Amino acid sequence: MPAPICAKCNQEMRCVKNRQLVHDPKVGDFSETFWIGDKYECPICKSEIVTGFAEKKFLREEIEKITTSQDREAAIPFVYDPSQHLEQYKK
Ligand SMILES: [Zn+2]
Repeated sequence: MPAPICAKCNQEMRCVKNRQLVHDPKVGDFSETFWIGDKYECPICKSEIVTGFAEKKFLREEIEKITTSQDREAAIPFVYDPSQHLEQYKK
C-alpha cells in the first residue's frame, strides 16, 4: 500500500512508528477505548498523522494485555472538543 502523501509538500510521508496507540477517552456514555495505527511523518514539514487503524478498538483491560505501559504512555490523546477535554491531558 502506498504511503500517505503530504498535500502541502507533495511528498510521500514515512512511517515513523508502527503500533501507535491512540487513546479515545470516555465521553458521556461512550467508553474509553484505544486504537492501534501507524504514525507517519512528512520529511519536509514534519507534519505527523496516524492512519492505517486496525478494525478493532480495544477497551483498557484488553489493551493492557497486548501493550506495554510505555506503549500506553506514548498514546496520542484523541480530543473531541479541546475546550472540554484538553484539561485532562495537561501534565
Ligand atoms: Zn509536508
